[in-house]
Order: sequence, then C-alpha cells, then structure tokens
Amino acid sequence: AFAEADRDLLVDAAAQLLRAVQSEQVFRAVERAKYEHQRFYAAATMLGQALTPEQVMETAFDAARAIVDYDAGVITMYDRESKKHRVHAVRRFDQASTIIDDKSLIDLEFRDNAGLVSMVVKNRHYLPATGELRDVSVPVFNKKIDLSDVKSLLVIPLLSADEPIGTLTLFANAEKRFGKDVREMLSVIANQVATSLQNGFLYRKMETMATTDGLTGLTNHRTFQQKFADLLDRADRHGYRVAMLLCDVDHFKKVNDNYGHPVGDEVLRRVAKVLQDVPRKIDVPARYGGEEFAVLLDNVSAEQARAVAERIRIEVSKIVVETEKGPLQVTESIGVALFPDDGRDRAVLIERADLALYHAKHTGRNRVVSYQEFAATRSNSAPVETKKAS
Ligand code: GH3
Ligand code: MG
Ligand code: MG
Repeated sequence: AFAEADRDLLVDAAAQLLRAVQSEQVFRAVERAKYEHQRFYAAATMLGQALTPEQVMETAFDAARAIVDYDAGVITMYDRESKKHRVHAVRRFDQASTIIDDKSLIDLEFRDNAGLVSMVVKNRHYLPATGELRDVSVPVFNKKIDLSDVKSLLVIPLLSADEPIGTLTLFANAEKRFGKDVREMLSVIANQVATSLQNGFLYRKMETMATTDGLTGLTNHRTFQQKFADLLDRADRHGYRVAMLLCDVDHFKKVNDNYGHPVGDEVLRRVAKVLQDVPRKIDVPARYGGEEFAVLLDNVSAEQARAVAERIRIEVSKIVVETEKGPLQVTESIGVALFPDDGRDRAVLIERADLALYHAKHTGRNRVVSYQEFAATRSNSAPVETKKAS
C-alpha cells in the first residue's frame, strides 16, 4: 500500500520525530542543570553571607534544604586532639515530629567509635553509601541516641582543604530521600559549609582579639569606649542612671618590684576575675589600661553603684596570690561617677571618676569614693554643678 515516496516521507518524519524527542531531552537536561545550578547558587550565596560559626551552621541547614527536602539535621564538629565529636547545631523542621530528640542531641559529646559520624570523619566520604537507612545496630552518633523513626539518612563529611572538621547529618522520615544526585550536590555544599565554618572560626578569633584584652580577657579600652557610648545613649533614652567605676590597684608598682612582672600579671588576672564575677551579666568590666580597670553598671542608683564598688573592693582584698616569697595580697581604690548626675558626657564622667579615684588614693587607698563625696570635700572652695536624672 506504500509507494517509494510514502516510505521516504515516513522515514523523514520519523527522523524529525527523533530529533524533536532528542532536543526535548536535551532541553530537559539543561533545565534540570539550570535548576540545580540555581539551587547551588542560592545555597552558596546564603553561606557567603554568614559570618559567625553559628550563622554558618544555621545557614547550612537552609542551604541543604534548598537541595533536598529533609526533616531534621545535625552538625557535629570534630576535635582531632581529644578525638571527640560534639554536636554543635540541631535543626528540626517539624516541631511535632519525633524523628530526632533535639534536646538529648545538643552539646552531645562522644569519642571516636564505630558509629557513622566517626566513620565519615575517618573515611572522608558520606555514609551510608546508598543514602538509605543503614543497619540499625550501627549507631549514628553513639549508642544512646535512638533514631528508630528515621527512614533515610545521610552523614556527609565537612571537608575544609580536604581535612574533615566535622559532619552534616540529615534525616528524613520518608524512604529513598537521598538519591545519588542529591548526595553529590550535598557533598559539594558540605565542603562550602566547611570552608565557611573555618572562616567563621577565624572571624570569631579576630573579633575576640580585636575587642578583648589578651592578659585578662576583659573588654579592651577601645571597645569599652564604644560600649560606654552605647550604654549612655540607651540610658538617656530610657531615663535611667549608669555608673562608671574606675578601679586602680594600690601600690602596684611595688608588686612588680618585689615579686616580679609575672606575679604582677597574675594579680591583674585575679582582679579581672573579681570584676567579672561581682557585677551582673549586663554590666561591662573592662581593662582600662595598665593596672586600671573600669566597670559600667547599667541602670543603677547611686547607692547600688556604691554597694557594687564596695563588694569589688572587699573581694579584691580577699585575693591571695601564692608566690615564691609567700602569699601576696593587694587592695584597690575605686572612684565612682554617675550619669547623668555627675555629667552627661563620656569624657566628663571619666574625668570625674578619675578625680574621685585620686581622692581615694590620697585619703588612705583601699577605699571607694564617689564624685559627689569628692565634690563635697571641696564645696567650700568650688561648688560643683549636678544634674538630676531625667
Ligand atoms: P597607686 O596606689 O598610687 O596606684 O600606686 P601604683 O604603684 O599602683 O601606681 P602606678 O600607676 O604609678 O603604677 C602602675 C604600675 O603598673 C606601673 C606599671 O609598671 C604596672 N603595670 C602596668 N601594666 C602592667 C601589666 O600589664 N603587667 C604588670 N605586671 N604590671 C603592669
Ligand atoms: Mg595606675
Ligand atoms: Mg595603682
């Protein structure tokens, strides 16, 4: 029934059909690649914006979620020296789900063992190789963590410059959630996470170095000035008081001269510890310079400020540093100035706390003197202006 021409026509038509199917397949592959590309791009962009390790970890969960729909995730970090793994972050997407118990997981610490996390860190490759639920007798973290509700899971190494720094573990309560494509994509993302994490740790270290004093760990002078300005701004807006305590170790030069500089340093560390322990968390103790410390007390009355200063003075006098020459004790003098009563300006407050401190030094040391007290001693010769809190 078909002539030669019909046959040619059909062959032609079939060839065209084949081309159409092929180009559709290519088109689909391109679309898929584009989609994956976009997801990669979105994930990488997210990670690029995270600064601190905490931000990176939170972002890692979001980035992984851009790749695959999982139900819970855990990030562990590995300490090569102690050979210990520690859970640093946990994310659960459905709060009602029992897939993992985030409370028993957070901060969990475990030694190298035969579990998946340990294996993944050791082998630098994700497990289980198929992305399916493994032999349930093999723990993921340690034996105490029950994961019987998990249907799929994947433990991916976080490799930074090929070094395993930890793992990203994803859980799903559906089977076959982590297919080969997903596993490959997640591996790439995990390496970006690792690099971002390393940067995050570096960032945090730099931040600490830039804002704290190396000897005592207290806020350094520059950051103190910044925090002081912020505190005054806030106090001004809300109409409450801020106290500045300026503390100076008495006869500290003699400590250095008689016991040596390292003992002097130890005294400073111990004094710093008192300044950290006595005030409240919201207060700001700082190394003002040399053997001078400043403490900012947020939202206090004159009486409260004095009481804190007294407690600091007493606690410092109780410090005993053991030295080769026997036990050493020190005292310190403290000057107190109050915002806004003694001044509204940072420089004025510092100057007045310093005047009060100077007065404490000249009237016997191991004392607390407020600017008001100092001013009263001079009230005959030079009246001092005072301002009331708004
Ligand atoms: P005063 O009771 O009048 O305060 O007497 P002082 O000897 O404490 O006073 P001064 O301010 O003259 O001496 C401070 C000394 O603190 C001088 C300096 O060598 C020493 N110092 C400053 N910074 C450090 C430090 O980081 N470590 C040690 N060990 N000593 C320091
Ligand atoms: Mg001094
Ligand atoms: Mg001194």
